[in-house]
Amino acid sequence: MAFSLIGDDTCQFIAPTPLPDPYWIAVSPEAAELLGIPLGSNHLPQDPDWLAVLAGNPAELGQRLFPNPMATAYSGHQFGHWAGQLGDGRAILLGELNHQELQLKGAGMTRYSRMGDGRAVLRSSIREFLCSEAMHALGIPTTRALSLVGSKQPVRRETIETAAVCSRFAPSFIRIGHFEHYAANGLHARLQELAAYLIEAHYPECQSSTTPYLALFKAISARNARCVAQWQSVGFCHGVLNSDNISALGLTMDYGPFGFLDHTALDHICNHTDSGGRYAYHRQPKIMHWNMACLANAMVPLVEKESSGEDAADILRTALSAFPPEYEAKWLALFRGKLGLQIEAPEDMELIEALLQLMHANRADFTNVFRSLSAVEKKDTLSNWRDQFLDRDAADVWLMQYRMRLIQESNSDVERAARMKQMNPKFILRNHLAQRAIEMAEQDDFSEVNRLQRILRRPFDDQPEFERYASAPLPDEVVSDLSCSS
Ligand code: AMP
Ligand code: MG
Repeated sequence: MAFSLIGDDTCQFIAPTPLPDPYWIAVSPEAAELLGIPLGSNHLPQDPDWLAVLAGNPAELGQRLFPNPMATAYSGHQFGHWAGQLGDGRAILLGELNHQELQLKGAGMTRYSRMGDGRAVLRSSIREFLCSEAMHALGIPTTRALSLVGSKQPVRRETIETAAVCSRFAPSFIRIGHFEHYAANGLHARLQELAAYLIEAHYPECQSSTTPYLALFKAISARNARCVAQWQSVGFCHGVLNSDNISALGLTMDYGPFGFLDHTALDHICNHTDSGGRYAYHRQPKIMHWNMACLANAMVPLVEKESSGEDAADILRTALSAFPPEYEAKWLALFRGKLGLQIEAPEDMELIEALLQLMHANRADFTNVFRSLSAVEKKDTLSNWRDQFLDRDAADVWLMQYRMRLIQESNSDVERAARMKQMNPKFILRNHLAQRAIEMAEQDDFSEVNRLQRILRRPFDDQPEFERYASAPLPDEVVSDLSCSS
């Protein structure tokens, strides 16, 4: 059973607020299959009750499957500062389906809504729906999305927009912020229950440790280290890496003003609200490490119980120091893979860093530089790969080093290219693509949302008919004003 559903005063049993006249915008077929929801020939759930259930409206099916919907309290650090109690202010956990927790985001007010209206607007819901499934297709750990339902209900943000509900699921939605909430409020019994639940349900390997809580901390930290390395490898910027948005399962979660690097700037800030660049692309690993320090702090009372006299904070500090090497090892393995390198040579780190600096200096497209590298051949010196860089001579210098390095590899150009294409996506959810789909959806045309959904399901396939979806944005297509408003 989902931990949250055990229930106590750190959560609120509450039904979603009904959404007037809901209609389907999109359903993820892979997600529906995983959850065991049969779809008809129109690619929508066969049982018509699902529309009501996934909009948050009363239905017999909902009563039967999800009798106790709820919202949970969590706290957290936002932009480096303790923010106190937050919680599911607009996400309602319906319950479990096929061992997944199913949540409706934008399902109305809860005890934790603070000043908010409990709703989510269409534009941010489209972004969360598309990116959740796109990240999954990229092989990156993430919460998933099942459906997107719209309504004409007006919602006030900077302007009047309309409401939507995105249903999302994960084995657990527990965040670092849940640990922080219990620790900050002295709820040590609850903290212990949370850790015990996570160990039993999601980290069974910790059970055999003589110090299971410490083992749990190390495992959560390692998963998040690997997850952020995967973000870096595809140029993904999360945008709001507050500790309440960090999963205890190492999943990417809470898609807001995220962005993928187009014209590479390693210090790229995707969230307009983040003026100091705390969550810039190149800072993400350090920030995730910082978030793991928040988790370590919250776990002190647990580790104390099993530390037989030794200082628990010291033990956790040592465990926390495993984060950078864990991250770096995963990062290096991923980027070696992106360069098609199977042998581990000592110069690889320098070679990769030099490429990233070259891309940065030339504002070259992150995705396309890597994707097109697969076409470079060991002996061919006439490659047009250099044309993606303003400074073609600098590109040639790097390419020469790369070819020298390839000599150490025994596989053929064809084999290497095939493997590299599985590591370097052609299609990512570029902001300008999402923006076009949003603008059309705001005019009740959902065809572009559905098309993007189809393309991003196979990000590593060539799909030549969709070539233009692989291009960097033109100057007038660049989306530069994404904020936390959602
Ligand atoms: P986010 O920036 O989406 O991660 O949200 C931060 C916190 O604000 C979370 O606790 C959300 O539940 C809450 N929140 C954001 N938007 C709303 C809203 N429209 N209504 C209620 N709570 C919200
Ligand atoms: Mg959040």
